[in-house]
Amino acid sequence: KAKEDGRNTVRQYDDKLDQDNADKFNLQQHLRQAIRQRAFVLYYQPQVDLRSQQIISVEALLRWPQPDGSFISPAEFIPLAEQCGLISELGNWVLAEACLACARLRQQGFSQLRVAVNLSYVQFKNEQLELTIQHALLDARLPASALELELTESLLISDTELVQKQLNNLSKLGVTFAIDDFGTGYSNLGYLRSFNATTLKVDRSFITSLGVSSRDEPLIQAIINMAKGLGLKTVAEGIENEATAQLLTRLGCDEGQGYYWSPAVPENKLPALLQTHG
Ligand code: C2E
Ligand code: MG
Ligand code: MG
Ligand code: MG
Repeated sequence: KAKEDGRNTVRQYDDKLDQDNADKFNLQQHLRQAIRQRAFVLYYQPQVDLRSQQIISVEALLRWPQPDGSFISPAEFIPLAEQCGLISELGNWVLAEACLACARLRQQGFSQLRVAVNLSYVQFKNEQLELTIQHALLDARLPASALELELTESLLISDTELVQKQLNNLSKLGVTFAIDDFGTGYSNLGYLRSFNATTLKVDRSFITSLGVSSRDEPLIQAIINMAKGLGLKTVAEGIENEATAQLLTRLGCDEGQGYYWSPAVPENKLPALLQTHG
């Protein structure tokens, strides 16, 4: 009996694996098609100066709309696009589109607005990246200083020559860098010495638990102080209420991003937001 059960478990496991692979394959096919058909949309989420409550910048976030009106989360399809070699094509479109949107908004009178774009480590390893970014900026007639690239710690820690070269060249162009999701995963902070970022984004997981456990308060305070010491601007991700916004202001955090101000919205919703937080 035990043996039979065992076999059944294995069988179920195999079936589950087959199903997972089939799902993945399906999603991959859809992804290819969606990229060909330019079926993606960029949404933008405000980053707000905590003292003045002004919107300084917007982060471009990919959305993949489905026929039923729902979205597939980028957390689901970005890793897949990385695996099947589609991320550069998708990422290049994001860069171009985000620069155009920022330039359009600047022309509508929000002349100081900046835009932040997430970059995958796979894109970052592509030698063409610098050219792609130059083109995106030129096409949009957007100054490089208006563009911030968000990189994750895992990329910065893979301290290869190519990564260093890309970082240097892109810095020379005048774009700035943010370290995204800071505090997740890596305890080795050595990379902060050699890498000249301008911004450190404290991961949402710390901010969310602020309301639950006061133990995270000294931790966030320490991160903010360290960032200040290194000359980095701090952004708190995932602020959902006024109390958290006030607490982070008190802790000396520079900017906030989160549902408290706004979720990511389509470009045409931004002017109204920028008016009220302008
Ligand atoms: P991220 O770069 O850390 O982006 C912030 C995520 O937090 C976004 O999720 C945003 O919608 C969500 N968020 C913002 N404020 C709040 C809040 O107050 N509460 C909660 N619960 N969530 C909040 P989203 O849009 O689903 O994106 C997930 C991740 O997918 C991003 O994390 C980023 O790593 C990746 N991603 C999105 N767009 C792109 C892209 O164009 N290229 C690349 N390579 N990755 C992207
Ligand atoms: Mg980001
Ligand atoms: Mg983040
Ligand atoms: Mg995140």
